[in-house]
Parts: sequence; C-alpha cells; structure tokens
Amino acid sequence: MKFVIIGGDAAGMSAASRAKRRQPGTEVMVLEQTDDVSYSACGMPYNIADPTREMDDLIVRHPRVFREKQGIDLRTGHRVEAIDPVQKAVRGTTCGGKSFQVPYDKLLIATGASAIIPGLPGFDLPGVMGLKNLEDGRRIKRFMADHKTRKDIIIGMGYIALEMCEALRARQLDVTMVKTRPVFLPWMNEDLSAMVKEEVTANGVAIYPGQEVRAIEQVDGDLKVGCQDLKLDAQMVLAAIGVRPNSGLAQDAGLQLGKKMAIAVDKSLRTSEQDIYAAGDCADAYHVVTGRKTWVPLALRANRAGWAVADNVTGGAKMLPGIVGTAVFKVFNLQVARTGLNPAEAIDAGFEPIEVMIKGRTRAHAHPGASTIGVQMVGDRKSGRLLGVQMVGKEGVAHRIDAAAVALHAGMTVDAFSQSDLAYAPPFGPVWDPLLTAANQLSKKI
Ligand SMILES: Cc1cc2nc3c(=O)[nH]c(=O)nc-3n(C[C@H](O)[C@H](O)[C@H](O)COP(=O)(O)OP(=O)(O)OC[C@H]3O[C@@H](n4cnc5c(N)ncnc54)[C@H](O)[C@@H]3O)c2cc1C
Repeated sequence: MKFVIIGGDAAGMSAASRAKRRQPGTEVMVLEQTDDVSYSACGMPYNIADPTREMDDLIVRHPRVFREKQGIDLRTGHRVEAIDPVQKAVRGTTCGGKSFQVPYDKLLIATGASAIIPGLPGFDLPGVMGLKNLEDGRRIKRFMADHKTRKDIIIGMGYIALEMCEALRARQLDVTMVKTRPVFLPWMNEDLSAMVKEEVTANGVAIYPGQEVRAIEQVDGDLKVGCQDLKLDAQMVLAAIGVRPNSGLAQDAGLQLGKKMAIAVDKSLRTSEQDIYAAGDCADAYHVVTGRKTWVPLALRANRAGWAVADNVTGGAKMLPGIVGTAVFKVFNLQVARTGLNPAEAIDAGFEPIEVMIKGRTRAHAHPGASTIGVQMVGDRKSGRLLGVQMVGKEGVAHRIDAAAVALHAGMTVDAFSQSDLAYAPPFGPVWDPLLTAANQLSKKI
C-alpha cells in the first residue's frame, strides 16, 4: 500500500510517523515544497525575541531521522501542483525544476494555510514580511540584523500579531499596530478586550484600530505606510492579518470545499473522494458545541487529525468528535484564552445565550502575588448548557480554560459544571475558583 502525503509539518509528519509505526510495511512518501519539516511554528515569536537563538532550534525532528530511522520516503523541495483522483496520482515540480509524477493508493492533503498578504501597492517590498513558516522567521531575523531595525509596524491584531508585538518590544523596537476593523479584539468580551489593550499600550505599543492600510512606499530606506488618516514610517512591516487554507489543489481536483474554503472532511478525515484525506489547517472540522462545520487553524487538531488519518489508512476506523475552539496566547504579562462560543456565535448557532463577566483573584485571599483574572461565561437559556468561556489574567489562565474545554466536550450544563470538584490550594486560586464563581452566577441567571 502506498500512502502519499502532501505537506511535511504538523499534520503531514504526524500521519507519516504513525502510519509507519502502525504498519511498517506501508510505503509512506511525503512531498514537501520547502526544505523544512516537523518544526514548531508556534515557537517563532519567542525565537525572534531572542537574537542569540537560531531559528533551527524549532525543528522538532530532522529530515534524516524520518528517512534513516523511520523509513519514510521524505522528499523536500517537491511542490505538488495537481492531483488526479481518477489516475490516483499527483504531479509537481522539484526546486531544481524537474517534473515528477507519483501514484498513490491513499493520499493525504496536509498543505496547511498561508499568511494573507494583501495585493496592495508596496506589499512586495523587501522589508514587508509575513510569518507562517520557518523561512519567514529566518528572513525576519536576517532583516533585523542586517538593517538595524528600530521601528516596526504590525498590520493586524490577532494572536500572532500580539505575540510578535511582544517579541519586537523585547528586541527594543518601537512598535505600532494598525488594522482596518474598528474593534481591537472583536471576538472578545469588551471588558476582557480592554484588559488586553491596556496591557499592550502600557508596554509602549501604539494601537490604531479602524485604520485601513492603503499602500506602502519605500523612501530613503524607510517604509512609509499610508493608512486612511495616518502616515506611519518604519524599517520593517509585518503583515499579520490572518491565514487562509491552502485548498487550491483540492479544489482544482474537484474535491468539495467547506467552511472558509477549507477542504471539507467527514469525521474520519475523508474528503469527497474515497481515497483522499485532508488534515490540519487546510481542512475543516466539526464543532462539538454547534455540531456544525468550523475552521480553526491550530496545532493540536492538526497533529490529532494526522494521527487519525494514519489509523484509517492502516486498517483502523478512527472518527474524531471535533473541536471546541480552545486557544490560548500570551501578550506581555497577560494570558488570554477562549473555548467554545461567544454570545454572537451562540446566536448564530441557534442558542439563546446568557452570559456573566466576573473579575476574581488568581490566588487565595491574602496570598502574596495574587492578581485579577477576568472570566466571561456563556450558557444557553433553553437547555442550561455551557457554551463558552473567555479568560484574561496574569497566571492560571491556561489550566482553567482547559477545565472549561473538557466540560464543553462533555456537553455539561452550567449547573453541572458549577458542581465540579476543581483543585484548590492558596497559591493556585481561591477556594471558590473564578471559574466556579462565574458558573454559580450564571446558573442563577439561566
Ligand atoms: C507564528 C505562529 C504561531 C503559532 N502559534 C500557535 C499556537 O500557539 N498554538 C497553536 O495551536 N497553533 C499555533 N500556530 C498554528 C500552527 O502552527 C498550525 O495550526 C499548524 O502548523 C498547522 O499544521 P499543518 O500541518 O496543518 O500545516 P503547516 O504547518 O502549514 O504545514 C503545511 C506544509 O505543507 C507544505 N505545502 C503546502 N502546499 C504544498 C504543496 N503544494 N506541495 C508540497 N508541500 C506543500 C508547506 O510548505 C508546509 O510545510 C501558530 C502559527 C504561526 C505561524
């Protein structure tokens, strides 16, 4: 059986390794367009923050380990340009310009997502960067070293933009953030979003939401960014306005697309073609709370989906229940997290949301080092079900959001969640954890 995988990062290499482990006789081939496989993109902002670190620190497993120790036919510098589902073959071109054609019995598309770079004037200038893969990270570090960068403009205010604003401040740069939409973090509860905004500005970052970028020009070695009411200048510009799924190959092959133009897959990760699977950022997924399709480009689900595909092409019957959209990031001294639905998403999914927003403490009363933690909790008035939680604080956010995520997977009501036996000791929280306080208050309103 020949299992061919397009894309050699989280989803692709997870699938390759697991397929080979489960069924060593399977011929596993990975076609990756770049020279990098199996690395932590998530670590890039922290790596960029430290000029002494090599970007290659983020490589989790080197190509030679996959080839020599795991027996995977890993071909880097191989870009796939077309899939022929009738002939069951893929074809493409190597970085050396040679054409190739490879037959498959089972195919996995694990092509990830690409950073959105607007087609506006000046976005192709050398100092304008995106950050998606390791080569982007190397380019940013090289540029900063070669140009003695003092100022950076970040276009976008999503989590990668915010992680990068912290990284660039750590490198002593002046940082300005702009974006078109008027609201700072539109998916977030207003009070929580205000806490994040305050932290970012307190760390010397200028924020301009509601400023559409029109063009970038190079003038005497500096970049001038023209927005609707502002003209900003810097040596470097980071475009961090989001990513889109790399689903073009699938679309051209006639495969069905789903949410946000990601490749539509069922719970076994199979596409609309019997022998073609898709996993990771290029594919959609089921949302456990809504039961509908969603697209959330994050690392855990990519790795997990890669494993599930490996199981299914080697005789297993793995079905993934889906995701609840759990995400966490850090910006300066704040941790920011969400899981499940916000009120607007809940309405869209047909729920009748009711919410509470509380501010609690991260440690017990009078315990040194305690700080404020904000928790927003959303439930459904009709069923009493827990629908989502958002949280901002200086500590303890990640472990708390995980408790809420598990409750969402279990389909718990707010009332049942309020009875959870959560951990308590003074350094970790009050007796009534802020999550329980929020659940107690919300269950009274439902
Ligand atoms: C800066 C940054 C920070 C992040 N932080 C987090 C975080 O903290 N937490 C989190 O959960 N997620 C984070 N992510 C997202 C996470 O990295 C992705 O969800 C994950 O890498 C997706 O894995 P994937 O295998 O689906 O796609 P990718 O990692 O994008 O890999 C796809 C691979 O396919 C290759 N490819 C594409 N097209 C072709 C083709 N035609 N032929 C051959 N090869 C092809 C690409 O070169 C690439 O190597 C972050 C991402 C970035 C960029």
